[in-house]
Amino acid sequence: MREPTSPIAWANFLVTVWGDRFPVDVRTIALEYSKRFPDPIRDVKAAPVGQAFEGALFPLPKSGEWAILYNPEVDVLGRINFTLGHELGHYLNHRHLRAMGFQCSAQAVLGFDADAAARRLEKEADEFASYLLMPITDYRAQIADQIMTLDLLGHCADRYRVSFTAAALKWIQFTEERAVLIYARDGNVLWGRRSDAAKKSGVFFETGMELPGGSLAALGPAAQPGPVGVELGPGVWRRFEPVREMTIFADRYDATISLLILPRKPVFNTGFGEEAVADVLNRFVGRGLSF
Ligand SMILES: [Zn+2]
Repeated sequence: MREPTSPIAWANFLVTVWGDRFPVDVRTIALEYSKRFPDPIRDVKAAPVGQAFEGALFPLPKSGEWAILYNPEVDVLGRINFTLGHELGHYLNHRHLRAMGFQCSAQAVLGFDADAAARRLEKEADEFASYLLMPITDYRAQIADQIMTLDLLGHCADRYRVSFTAAALKWIQFTEERAVLIYARDGNVLWGRRSDAAKKSGVFFETGMELPGGSLAALGPAAQPGPVGVELGPGVWRRFEPVREMTIFADRYDATISLLILPRKPVFNTGFGEEAVADVLNRFVGRGLSF
């Protein structure tokens, strides 16, 4: 059998081999599946090293074998499972490229690494982990015809043993809803992701922008209205559109993760399309990176 040649193909292949068992046991797959290679993964273990890295794939001395390390101090089990998936992604796809292995931090995983080639490898390892842990077919079946709520997202995060953010990012990737995930810290937007439907209808935000005053994310944890979030009128997140916002407050990082659900049918200004013009201007004036 020919081996897969891309990170997503590898993940899909392993999902087929592994079957419908969730959460995916990355440790067992790493140890068992890598036995077929001359340089297998011999160990997957915790290495408490402060906050220096979340996970690592590194070559063992002399034997030519590999080990995956993960930082047990970093957050919840869900993060660890994703980290293991990420490192297995490096092993299957990239180990021949870097004899000294990989040390991965949240910075690298979020794509903040300055080196474009390194960023690409980090992105690929994340894609692998996402497709391995959360196959889209299974995820769609969990959602069926339900509306997205924090409870439903929590169910998926539990099922796949991933963080809320990882589960939300996966949903954004395949949903037909117009949806946006916004990650902010200290009141400023750090990064975000839009669904295809949101992109196609011209929705975008800027990194570095302040959280809108009336948003749940800006109001703080006391305003948390329940699993369906809150319907905010036009003028809060979007000038002419209402938005349903659900927000998770991550105290530890002083961060907010907001999931915005926009009306299925875009609401445009009925005047001269001022918003579209302003959007285009903003984009070219380059006040910040947009997403
Ligand atoms: Zn990495």
